[in-house]
Amino acid sequence: MSGASSRRKLAPGRLVLASHNKGKLAEISTLLQPYGLETVSAADLGLPEPEEDGDSFIANAEIKARFVAQETGLVALADDSGLCVDALDQAPGIYSARWAGEPRDFDKAMARIHDLVEEKGSDASKKAHFVCAMSLCWPDGHVENFEGHVWGNLVWPPRGARGFGYDPIFVAEGQNQSFAEMAADAKRAISHRTAAFRQLIEGCLA
Ligand code: IMP
Repeated sequence: MSGASSRRKLAPGRLVLASHNKGKLAEISTLLQPYGLETVSAADLGLPEPEEDGDSFIANAEIKARFVAQETGLVALADDSGLCVDALDQAPGIYSARWAGEPRDFDKAMARIHDLVEEKGSDASKKAHFVCAMSLCWPDGHVENFEGHVWGNLVWPPRGARGFGYDPIFVAEGQNQSFAEMAADAKRAISHRTAAFRQLIEGCLA
């Protein structure tokens, strides 16, 4: 990964967001608005989603960003994220969405994590972290990658009705509330997505 000063700068203009997830699109568009970047989503442009067959969060984000930059001739931003559980050798990790099945059922996915950790015994670590990789790809193939984390612990039973995905079973370090109990802006202030995004701002927009 290159240092902030050697990263390619992003000029004001149109940026395609490779995500098809409406929640993520809204969050990323809001974060980018102050930087003179007009965002359009790959879904709005009618693009399909490429197969995410990378072996890391960054590899998967890069697959999505490269595909969209090549198809549109515009700079593309993609992200890939998930929950890593220490007691489960960092699973579900890049398979976080897939663990929820189709159609997505996160109650089931959270129960699966809980059960598997319980099977490890009462001493099993409850430590977990969220990861967010972001990949910015230019039409000439140049890529800048970023990765943010938030560290914390699993709780059971699930708590709170806000947020999405695995939020109800995750309490970040230094917090009492789960991500699903916290107000959206309080979660955003400490989230893995914001951490990755801050690096992108510092590296490519500042
Ligand atoms: P992606 O769309 O391939 O990045 O999949 C991300 C998956 O990871 C989501 O479907 C969620 O299950 C999980 N995830 C990522 N970020 C969060 C978060 O902030 N809270 C809860 N779950 C998350």
